[in-house]
Amino acid sequence: MEKYTEKKLKNQLLQTLISNHVSDKTLERVKECNTFMLFVADKTLEHKKLHGANSCKHRFCPVCSWRKARKNALKISILMQYLREAENKEFVFLTLTAPNVKANELDDEIKHYNQSFQRLMQRKEVKAAVKGYVRKLEVTYNKDRDDYHPHFHVILAVDKHYFNNQRQYIKRDRWLELWQQSTKNPCIAQVDIRRVKHTDNKKEVSEIAKYSAKDSDYLQDETIFDTFYKTLSGKRLIVYSGLFKDASKKYENKELEHYKEMDPTHYIYQIFYHWGQTDYIQTEQKLMSEDMQKEVNQTMLEEIDIEE
Ligand SMILES: [Zn+2]
Repeated sequence: MEKYTEKKLKNQLLQTLISNHVSDKTLERVKECNTFMLFVADKTLEHKKLHGANSCKHRFCPVCSWRKARKNALKISILMQYLREAENKEFVFLTLTAPNVKANELDDEIKHYNQSFQRLMQRKEVKAAVKGYVRKLEVTYNKDRDDYHPHFHVILAVDKHYFNNQRQYIKRDRWLELWQQSTKNPCIAQVDIRRVKHTDNKKEVSEIAKYSAKDSDYLQDETIFDTFYKTLSGKRLIVYSGLFKDASKKYENKELEHYKEMDPTHYIYQIFYHWGQTDYIQTEQKLMSEDMQKEVNQTMLEEIDIEE
């Protein structure tokens, strides 16, 4: 519940910052977001899972974007598992950055990032090595300098033998050169590139799945919020391409359900909460009907933890 409370408190902060930007109807939805929640729990009450809530689904809602990030994390990790097994692919994690910009330059800079990325992907050696990607735009705010740092996190799908194949492998220094050329900015000093481990890809998956802006950044004050809101509204923040795009379609068509794990918990209780200004209040706890137990148990896990 702590996490829900933390996120709902931030949602209340959002309500004041967003009111100039949205219709009364949308504002009402944001206000009402997660004021009611229904959890299901096992007999020890130790294992709980959210079963239903009135969520606003707004891109800037701290509650909803956190929940969405957890669902995205599951999706991306399944896409990788599928591409590894069915397509014999391995993965490289690439972070592309450029110098920070002021608020009034941010929108143009993001357009420039998109164009630069397209140029990078069109390079012959990149085309030969990269079989698909999933890419996330992230923007962070630097308080000391009052400027913004847009950047891309990318997971690239490459052939299994990429790392040992002299004709495909692209060294870090070469990635840097290619990115400098694509951005037409020779001052860029580094790119971060690393192989994604089989055993632990949580960090990389989280970077792609999580929100494009941290709520601790965009909720700081009205000016900062307005900049984030104007810049990120209506933009595609996560992009699937090539093999990742094909796999994403399969996932959405429920063709990859067998990669999901069964939820091992046996739920018997339902617990109701409502939001009381500063925290959640439990209003009711009761045994579920048999029908509801059937509906809730023996189902797949639909989300996983992310690193924030
Ligand atoms: Zn919400």
